[in-house]
Amino acid sequence: MARETTRPVRRAPRIAVVGGGIAGLTAATLAAREVGAEASVDLFESVSEWGGRARTREDEGFHFNMGPHALYQDGPAEAVLAELGVAPEGSPPDISRGLAWCEGRAQVFPAGAASLISTTLLSAGEKLRLGRKLAGLSKLDAAPWDGRSLRDFLEATFPTKRLRCVFEAVVRLSTYAHAPEQLSAGTAIRQVQGALGGGVRYLDGGWQPMVDAIAAKAREAGANLHAGARARTLEPVGSDSGSGRPDSGWRVGFGEGRSEEFDAVVLAMGPSEINGLFGGSDPTFAEWAERSLPVRAACFEIGLSRLPDPRRPFALGIDEPTYLSVHSLSARGLAPEGGALIHAARYLAPDEKPERAELEEQLGRQLDALQPGWRDHVVTKKVLADLRVAHAVPTAAMGGLAGRPGVRVAHRPGLYVAGDWVGDTGWLVDASFASGREAARAVARDGVQGGSNGEVRGG
Ligand SMILES: Cc1cc2nc3c(=O)[nH]c(=O)nc-3n(C[C@H](O)[C@H](O)[C@H](O)COP(=O)(O)OP(=O)(O)OC[C@H]3O[C@@H](n4cnc5c(N)ncnc54)[C@H](O)[C@@H]3O)c2cc1C
Repeated sequence: MARETTRPVRRAPRIAVVGGGIAGLTAATLAAREVGAEASVDLFESVSEWGGRARTREDEGFHFNMGPHALYQDGPAEAVLAELGVAPEGSPPDISRGLAWCEGRAQVFPAGAASLISTTLLSAGEKLRLGRKLAGLSKLDAAPWDGRSLRDFLEATFPTKRLRCVFEAVVRLSTYAHAPEQLSAGTAIRQVQGALGGGVRYLDGGWQPMVDAIAAKAREAGANLHAGARARTLEPVGSDSGSGRPDSGWRVGFGEGRSEEFDAVVLAMGPSEINGLFGGSDPTFAEWAERSLPVRAACFEIGLSRLPDPRRPFALGIDEPTYLSVHSLSARGLAPEGGALIHAARYLAPDEKPERAELEEQLGRQLDALQPGWRDHVVTKKVLADLRVAHAVPTAAMGGLAGRPGVRVAHRPGLYVAGDWVGDTGWLVDASFASGREAARAVARDGVQGGSNGEVRGG
């Protein structure tokens, strides 16, 4: 009589991407394309909508991004979007007619040759110096500055306080970071070079159409998208066989006793969230979470029935860390017919926690100068007192972007990370796109093998 044997059934390889922001959507789409029918790709997002911090909120017919969002042109984002087959529509803002807020009053913002000559912000000598510095900036080698702070660069480059303030304001505008003592000057220089070179675009309808288009590409590539699915725990399955790779991949727990097993997992979320998935038990993730200095901003979003002065689209704080811009003057589909959408923001220093009322007073006062009479046309307004723009300032101490973790988690084979704090390429959403693509490529290159599904069968 034949003896019955049992053996586990090998299932098809499974890849999980956790986090449905730009990094996760990019990783899921490109991973699904890379592996084709040979493996399955599942994308899990904790909330019911896709896009994370790139989401757009609709309110009274206005389409507000989560704070002011501009897409850098000619950078990694544009390259990855082209690879995804997504072409968002939008237009550059007109800052040539911008104002500079300094010493409690609005002056001409030095955005080009004509405004540099006419502004009262700088003395004749300072104008000459700034003009020369900006002209030479595109050729400046940023690498020697990677390990030095923006403060060092400002002190070494600009002889007067006013010049340092003006350049620091341009750095805040391009990086969102308000941490001159910590920010790597090399990162700051590259970001300003990119902003002055390729420029930026405000997107029509906000960033949501871009998010939705990437989600559609993910589905088209065969990825399974699960919204409202928060991953709560992550643990290796099986014992370590000596290779360092868990025997049967990773188990993602979703709470209430529900879990699923995967052979590779891309964590497209922040370092603190990853640390939380491990319950703080992994020293590397705990250290990532601990050492990350977030880039934060407070935002004031305003929808108007009418714009008092369409000739004034933009203002930048010079001695106060502020930004105001009428996004609906450049991008279409942000405000109802005849209305206007304004994003105002205050760049927050590390540990700064201003009160809502103070923020509304400060930004409202500056808006009085940019758009006198705006208060008579308010349809909707909202203060968002503390938003996380990026998970980690690329600091001088870590050598700038080169010091960020790579997509492969070296001590946890089969685990990958992606997001605006990962990889040596790009800043803000450029980093999310670049690391999402890199994580997908790494998963495909490393190869995934199906694990056991735990079933047994007679032989
Ligand atoms: C005020 C503000 C202004 C900005 N302006 C610009 C700009 O002008 N230009 C620019 O390039 N960038 C800008 N950014 C940054 C840009 O929005 C982000 O860098 C980018 O959207 C981050 O994408 P991400 O996918 O890396 O992270 P996120 O968008 O944070 O996505 C992470 C996702 O993971 C989900 N998640 C977290 N934990 C779990 C879990 N346990 N299980 C399942 N899902 C989970 C979250 O819900 C979220 O959807 C701005 C951001 C802010 C806040």
